[in-house]
Amino acid sequence: MTTFEKVINQIIPEDCGNNFKVPYSLQEVGITQSLFGQWKTCRRKFLFSINRWTPRGIMKFEYHSMMHYLLEILYACKKGGDVATTTVLASLDPYKLNSAPREVEIQKAIAEVMISEYILYYGKDFKEKRFESVEGLFEILLENYILRGKKDGRFRDKIGGRWHIEHKNYGVIDTDYLLKHLSFDFQNMFYALADLVEFNKLLKGVLYNIIRKPKTGKVTSIVDMMKDLRKKIHKDPRHYFVRFEIPYNVREINQFKTDLLFQLRELEINLIRAQKQPKLALLYFYKNESACNAGYQCEFLNACSTGNFNGYCRRKDMFPELV
Ligand code: SF4
Repeated sequence: MTTFEKVINQIIPEDCGNNFKVPYSLQEVGITQSLFGQWKTCRRKFLFSINRWTPRGIMKFEYHSMMHYLLEILYACKKGGDVATTTVLASLDPYKLNSAPREVEIQKAIAEVMISEYILYYGKDFKEKRFESVEGLFEILLENYILRGKKDGRFRDKIGGRWHIEHKNYGVIDTDYLLKHLSFDFQNMFYALADLVEFNKLLKGVLYNIIRKPKTGKVTSIVDMMKDLRKKIHKDPRHYFVRFEIPYNVREINQFKTDLLFQLRELEINLIRAQKQPKLALLYFYKNESACNAGYQCEFLNACSTGNFNGYCRRKDMFPELV
């Protein structure tokens, strides 16, 4: 039996972390939008993920997750101005990164500039928006499937309308593409549907909040780099801070629900077949070779190219994004 065939037997993991002590199923363990995205991207990748394989020694906290963490602290403290800046920047100090110390300092310095300028630029957030939850976990039942997730933020606007905020840190912002694609963005609609099921009321929309990751080139002095970056932001803040308000109506959400249920059933059939016929399971979870380097290199490229899991380990949690 090859290593990959053995993996199939672990479709039924003995202990999936997150307190799941049951075989993987959509009914007992459930699915997040990110795990579902893996199924849609590459079935083999999904298979590895539900078996909790992950590359060893991957950098855990890079710029994007650092910014995400800072935004969480910021909106949880529910105020802007100097107090927020001090609180948020203090949370950078114990931040541990697994990369070279200088690179850590550069990333921290960029994050410090970006978040403090963000607080100044979006001062109105703390006067006009009332945050009801930040990084709120949800677990809802859609027919007999469990959908799980963590919303970046949920707030009310000045007239009481309910919104989600979704934070993104992009190096490149393609406005034309986003304006079209966000009208049917999977993550936004997954969370909007979950909200509708949980609260029985439609969201007004999603505020898609993008902070551009600046290009810094070769850094000789971190202090000069920070000054230079601040100057660039002051000159053209709208280049770095971009927002889209995306409203979704009931018809769109209901159509999304129909599509999602159809796809969940398809996934469920595959899981049942694979669990009943482990010898054929790799066929049900076939590779999608066109997804290996679509935008970024898949973390399972080594596993797929060598046919073994050297350099990988099994993480504790089924859904690390919810921990
Ligand atoms: S390397 Fe390619 S085939 Fe293998 S899991 Fe990733 S996307 Fe799928």
